[in-house]
Parts: sequence; structure tokens; C-alpha cells
Amino acid sequence: MSTPGQTLLHTGAFALGITLTPEQNEQFSRLYALLLDGNSRLNLTALKTEQDIVLKHFVDSLSCLRGGYLDTPGHVLDLGTGGGFPSLPLAIVRPQLHITPMDATRKKIDFVRETAGALGLNHIRPVTGRAETLGRDAAFREQYDRVVARAVTTLPVLAELALPFLKVGGLLLAQKGALSSGELQAGAQAAAQLGGRVQEIDEFALPVLGDARTLVLVEKVRPTPDRYPRRDGIPNQQPLF
Ligand code: SAM
Repeated sequence: MSTPGQTLLHTGAFALGITLTPEQNEQFSRLYALLLDGNSRLNLTALKTEQDIVLKHFVDSLSCLRGGYLDTPGHVLDLGTGGGFPSLPLAIVRPQLHITPMDATRKKIDFVRETAGALGLNHIRPVTGRAETLGRDAAFREQYDRVVARAVTTLPVLAELALPFLKVGGLLLAQKGALSSGELQAGAQAAAQLGGRVQEIDEFALPVLGDARTLVLVEKVRPTPDRYPRRDGIPNQQPLF
């Protein structure tokens, strides 16, 4: 990563209250190089410029730390991690978290596993699979303190995919762009059916660029009924609301 790229990263992270150590800075530089290399082979991201990758992937991923809900040790599922976002940036700055990046696409999870290994992020355990299937598997269901999901489907669909993984008392952190009142209302109604309650809507601007972002926090207040999640593809085809 170039010196201007490193400055952008520091500025963006600092705006989120994060001061990167020299070791973390080095890990981000290596992640940048590995992402460029992986992208040429696997088409992991449409973002091509250094500024976009630094701000829209690295800094944007770190915005899930707003509010301090990922500051204590615990088990975190990253649902629909794609090329490792927010898992990889999160793992660099929060080594005390046990993170499970999950995605339906094997080649993406292979990339995340290899990259985590190359960066020495041993507290990451990537898993390939669909949320509808793994959310019914006792090894995953109600096993997590937090679920993060960045740019994954609509809020009502995400509620059905994510809430089964949370322990009661756990929290879903949905990282989204600008959110319409209709999507929010549908998400809140779906969450209520799944044992969740919308706790907070945190609207903010992406550091440096100023793009609209929303962090939706949904607390799991009671167990998710056994009939959820429905089978593969149904949450998306027939959203609860
Ligand atoms: N979170 C990443 C990011 O911010 O760059 C990737 C976002 S991408 C738009 C959505 C990802 O969610 C895709 O990689 C897709 O394979 C995954 N996904 C969508 N539905 C899924 C499901 N039902 N189970 C597991 N992964 C899913």
C-alpha cells in the first residue's frame, strides 16, 4: 500500500476511534496486496482503486466497531463474508474475538482462509455453507454472541438468516448503506417473529468520503422458533415481510 493509502487508512480508522499500531498497519498493507492478487484470479471485489479499497472495504468494515459492541471477547459470525469483509479487518484490530467468516461460495472462503493464515490471524475459522442450512445445525445454531453482516441482502431476509445463530442476549450488527423506512419497518416486523428486537439505528457518514451508512443493531430477546430459517432460497424468495 502506498504512503497516501496508509495515511487514508489511519485517518479513516482514527475517525472511528481506532489508532492502528505499526503491526496492524503492516497487516493491512499485506491484506491489500493479497486482495489485489486474489481479485485478479477470483473476482472478489468490484472496487479497484487504492482509495476505494482502503475506505470502502477496510474502513467501512471497521465501522461495525461503532458503539463498542465488539470490544469484549466472544464468538462472532460474519454471515456472507465474501472476500472477508468485515472479518479480516475486524480480526486485525480485535485479536480477542473468535471470528467465523461464513459464505455460500467455496472459492471465497478458501481465499479468506489462506489470507487469514498469511496474516497470522489464527482466531479466524472460515466455514463454507448456506445460512439456511448451517442455521439448523446444532454446531452453529444459537452459538454466537454477535453476528455481523455487511452488504448482505435486505433486512427482513437477513433477520431470518442471522438470528438463528445468536444466543439469547446476542446482537446482530447489520452494516448497510442508506436504509429506507420501508426496509427498516419490514426488518423490525420480521425480527419480532424470529425472536429479535431492533435496538438501535446508527446513521453515520463513511469517514473521508461522507457516504451514507447505517448500522442496524438487533438484539435477540428470545429463542428463534424451530421453523426458521426456512429451507435454502425461501427467505429470499418469500421474505417474511
Ligand atoms: N460481506 C462481504 C462484503 O461486504 O464485501 C460480501 C457482500 S456480498 C454482496 C454478499 C455475500 O453473501 C456473497 O458473498 C454471497 O455468497 C453471500 N450470501 C448470500 N446469501 C447467503 C446465504 N444464504 N448463505 C451464505 N452466504 C450467503
